[in-house]
Amino acid sequence: MSKQPSSYLSSKLEGRLKADESGNSIFALEPIKKGELIAVFGGVVYEWETFIHLPDRERMLCLQVEDRHFLVPSPIGEGDYVNHSCNPNAGLSGQIGLVAMRDIQIGEEVCFDYAMCDTMPYDEFNCLCGASTCRGRVGGNDWQRPELQKRYAGYFSPHVQRRIDAQRAEQKAFEKALNKTKQQKFGAKVPTPIYE
Ligand SMILES: [Zn+2]
Repeated sequence: MSKQPSSYLSSKLEGRLKADESGNSIFALEPIKKGELIAVFGGVVYEWETFIHLPDRERMLCLQVEDRHFLVPSPIGEGDYVNHSCNPNAGLSGQIGLVAMRDIQIGEEVCFDYAMCDTMPYDEFNCLCGASTCRGRVGGNDWQRPELQKRYAGYFSPHVQRRIDAQRAEQKAFEKALNKTKQQKFGAKVPTPIYE
């Protein structure tokens, strides 16, 4: 069997143990420009029902690629050591690509935000990323947070983007229906709300 890892990591980066030995991560060996490809994740795709019964370690290294589908690396490689940060320097490009969201300097750890791909509660944890924007707890519903949708526009996995678009369309339809009700109730002109 081939020992080739299922994920690709650019030669400008390497996976290694963090200085505080808290876990593995990937670090830039060369400067990386905004938009450059960092990694492409690979592996075996499982449906949710099978996926939730996999060992913890396999589930922790996975990537949610569709509403109910999960990509689990096999064999594991350096490219699978990308950690979460609430102030990431990388984001998703499509389902399995990881690109730089800004220029990255030599020695910087490369992270993305799990809100860019997760919509299921399979890997929720208290975050210790230390960023000023840290939300404390990372969960499967974080993609719904308006500030994250704004900050990560263009870097969500397609299945998450579809949900965001559907949520916005629903909100618009609701506002339209509300406006129509007001018009029927108060005449053609919608009264301006008065705040005291
Ligand atoms: Zn955090």
